[in-house]
Amino acid sequence: MIHRRIPLTLEAIVEGGLCIGCGLCRAVAGADGAGADKVDFVLTPEGRERPVARQPLDAATMVRINVICPGTRVAGAAGAGPGVGEAIPHAMHDLVWGPAERLAIGYAGNPTVRHRASTGGVLTALGQFLLTSGRVKFILHVAASATAPMRTERRLSFDAASVLEGAGSRYGPAAPLLDFTALLDRGQPFALIAKPCDITAVRNLARIDPRVDRYLRYALTFVCGGASDLTKSEDVANDLSVRLDAVSSFSYRGNGCPGPTRLETKDGRAFELTYQQMWEDEATWRIQPRCKICPDAMGESADMVASDVWPGGGPSGEDAGFNGIIVRNARGLELYEAAVAAGAIVVEPREVGFRDFDGFQPHQVNRKRAVWARMAGMRAAGQAVPEISDLRLAECARLNTLGENLHEARGARRRAREGRLSEPPAVSR
Ligand SMILES: Cc1cc2nc3c(=O)[nH]c(=O)nc-3n(C[C@H](O)[C@H](O)[C@H](O)COP(=O)(O)OP(=O)(O)OC[C@H]3O[C@@H](n4cnc5c(N)ncnc54)[C@H](O)[C@@H]3O)c2cc1C
Ligand code: SF4
Ligand code: SF4
Repeated sequence: MIHRRIPLTLEAIVEGGLCIGCGLCRAVAGADGAGADKVDFVLTPEGRERPVARQPLDAATMVRINVICPGTRVAGAAGAGPGVGEAIPHAMHDLVWGPAERLAIGYAGNPTVRHRASTGGVLTALGQFLLTSGRVKFILHVAASATAPMRTERRLSFDAASVLEGAGSRYGPAAPLLDFTALLDRGQPFALIAKPCDITAVRNLARIDPRVDRYLRYALTFVCGGASDLTKSEDVANDLSVRLDAVSSFSYRGNGCPGPTRLETKDGRAFELTYQQMWEDEATWRIQPRCKICPDAMGESADMVASDVWPGGGPSGEDAGFNGIIVRNARGLELYEAAVAAGAIVVEPREVGFRDFDGFQPHQVNRKRAVWARMAGMRAAGQAVPEISDLRLAECARLNTLGENLHEARGARRRAREGRLSEPPAVSR
């Protein structure tokens, strides 16, 4: 990997459309002499959570931020640093999907978890199992904010009930890593359940902070289509003529698979949209710019990945909840086998392979094949792109025709020139 000679400023990362709002730069920048965070985190008018430097950041801090930021650097498993299990040959490897020790379809053994969770509850069940088996002291994940229910906050769960409270997909902005270095200061083993880009961020940090591999025992993720702007969720309330300050709870899915998007108000009203009503029109997804060039939405550097398994990529109705499971490495395999043996997760007897995952996730396959050309188009428009290693993007692009790659590259160049792959300066609403 060739490293940038001059690190990007925080403003350049954000305005260049590379930030996904994970929060790790705030943790890494730390506090000034007076104890105030050097980097503030704001909710922008566009409905994104973004870092803002409260004071000019020194060169050493900016180098560190460029090393850890998942907007500037993304590596697959082989480049993921020590402790990820890459020394052990993988049982399976796919050009598009990356390494795997095991592929399966399963769900949480506990029916309540399975019903309450986003898909089949595998991530929640694994989080609970990690705690009850004593493997970790806490789980770092996210949950709906208690004070602003449309928003999402990082959560530390020390028991199974708290892990369950965080079940369900939060499609809007979520910053699980805002105080990640303070969590390392605790000196306790823990697990992270978060988006693939969040996992990238902590794997990046592991290269410069050995405490990550010492204390972050497991990194679990999901296949990720992209994080939407908060305005997407706020429009749901607006369309229902519900004032934002009247909302008492907001869940995107869960309580069934996929379950409804449900909004409740402080005066006792409840509204539901089906998954299709919420997401059927891709033009209204309001996916953040970084997601459109996401080189690793399949979580190659996680220990285990969970997904939906709807044929064609979308639900045709409600079902009991089944997760696709990709066990990435030896650490994930040991956890997977222990969780199955304990009944925390249940695995279907049917065999699944990478081509089944293609069928469950056609949008992911298309994006992985398109990203190399999209980045070439962005570069041609003078826009910075992440430094990428061990994700086989050029090889994936070779699966396309020359015409398809040119189409992607020209489209990205045009969108970059029109400013559609960048963002305004981050300001607080
Ligand atoms: C933004 C987003 C995009 C997604 N796109 C796809 C897709 O394209 N294809 C696909 O198959 N699946 C996608 N999913 C994943 C899917 O919705 C399920 O989360 C996944 O199948 C795991 O299901 P589960 O029942 O095991 O999860 P659960 O048991 O409900 O656990 C979900 C866990 O994820 C954490 N979490 C939820 N939202 C966030 C967030 N925004 N940031 C960090 N952590 C979070 C929760 O804290 C919880 O611990 C997406 C999820 C999200 C949040
Ligand atoms: S992606 Fe994360 S580390 Fe990078 S600038 Fe955004 S919040 Fe900071
Ligand atoms: S698509 Fe990629 S960048 Fe966007 S939220 Fe998902 S993992 Fe992060």
